[in-house]
Amino acid sequence: MRLTQYFLPTLKEDPKEAEIASHRFMLRAGMVKQNSAGIYTWLPLGLRVLKKIERIVRYHQDIAGAQECLMPTIQSADLWKESDRYDAYGKQMLRITDRHDREMLYGPTNEEMITDVFRSYLKSYKDLPKNLYHIQWKFRDEIRPRFGVMRGREFLMKDTYSFDLTKADAVYSYQKMFLAYLKTYTDLGLRVIPMKADTGPIGGDLSHEFILLADTGESEVFIDEKWMNTDLSGKDIFYKNKAQLDSYFKEMTGIYAATDETHDGVNAPVNLIKTRGIEVGHIFYFGTKYSEALKATVQTKEGKNVPVEMGSYGIGVSRLVGAIIEANHDEAGIKWPSAVAPFDVGLINLKVSDEETSAVCKDLYDNIKNVGLDVLYDDRDTNAGGKFADMDLIGLPWQIIVGPKGLKNGIVELKKRETGERNEVSLDSIMTILTTSIRDLKRGF
Ligand code: ATP
Ligand code: MG
Repeated sequence: MRLTQYFLPTLKEDPKEAEIASHRFMLRAGMVKQNSAGIYTWLPLGLRVLKKIERIVRYHQDIAGAQECLMPTIQSADLWKESDRYDAYGKQMLRITDRHDREMLYGPTNEEMITDVFRSYLKSYKDLPKNLYHIQWKFRDEIRPRFGVMRGREFLMKDTYSFDLTKADAVYSYQKMFLAYLKTYTDLGLRVIPMKADTGPIGGDLSHEFILLADTGESEVFIDEKWMNTDLSGKDIFYKNKAQLDSYFKEMTGIYAATDETHDGVNAPVNLIKTRGIEVGHIFYFGTKYSEALKATVQTKEGKNVPVEMGSYGIGVSRLVGAIIEANHDEAGIKWPSAVAPFDVGLINLKVSDEETSAVCKDLYDNIKNVGLDVLYDDRDTNAGGKFADMDLIGLPWQIIVGPKGLKNGIVELKKRETGERNEVSLDSIMTILTTSIRDLKRGF
């Protein structure tokens, strides 16, 4: 993409309304525009990141055995009356009346709807287990939308729903999702800690929140010091190996980690760290709460009808964009982990009016695209300082800086955004360096 053609409205000044780094940088980097409180347009640069996160989330859901579907954003109130949550959800729920005076709502979550989908088709133990997910916009009329996309009113969530015959099977489904979440966050370049959680209005008896440690997080958390050296990647743990998965789950949930809601101080270890964090995922096993209310039953082998065992599993996809920035930035701007960067490489032309420089840049631009990397080419006829500042602000992992001085000696500069390290490399070797050091970081999501 050429910057002269791209829709990238960057801002030099910090917007007054932004209290935390991620909100400030998302506005300044032209990733989002606020339309109303907690409601945003995703501009091209921001949407690229959102899509990359979605892709990684989807990749791990699919491997864990979940099947993607897509439910609507607008739901009928009837299902929520069946589950008795229509009144209970209160003002968080955006209620809508259609032209026939029917009560509708913009879905804040989908337990009722997916249970209705299930009961419409599946009736036998032979149909189980099943696991369905979608990535869809939700609406919650939050009292205090703030911190940009971190606490929006309209936000993108990945929500998965598992259906099993027995509690033991449902716990296995829960453990698979637990593992999928750890793998997902690792591939997003984050260290996210699973914490025992209250089940809240969803109900049930097994629940974990996935928390990214950050000083600006809304939740107060208490974690065992051990978490600092614990491998959170879930690598070498296999979904199909039940015994291995179960012992891994017990090991991980055995290390103390609690939010202020569940922290009791009594069972806490002495070497406890008190800090803050951002909730980027939340999983629940809630048994037959919804299947009983909505009469989603299956016939057992013995011919008995029993309510299906369920769990639900959410990831805050749009919140993650902000959370990733909270974990990866400096004063100059964002430092995207390569897996979610909107482009892999930023190419800076220091002197657009110089014919040779522009010809070299054009070649590099084409070559980089041809090897399958995403490149943003700053071909604006503006000063170098502004170009460097914008490139650091939007945080692409690699920058290639090309100017007439270096080219005289056949040299361009390669900058790694994460460390700020800059190296002069020969023009001849740049493509080899790119394809080896960068392409390895891109996995097949
Ligand atoms: P919170 O405690 O932050 O209000 P929640 O517990 O109400 O979140 P869940 O119902 O567990 O949220 O939703 C699943 C995930 O969706 C959360 O873990 C979070 O990452 C994300 N999420 C929830 N509310 C919002 C919001 N208002 N804006 C952006 N993301 C959100
Ligand atoms: Mg939650």
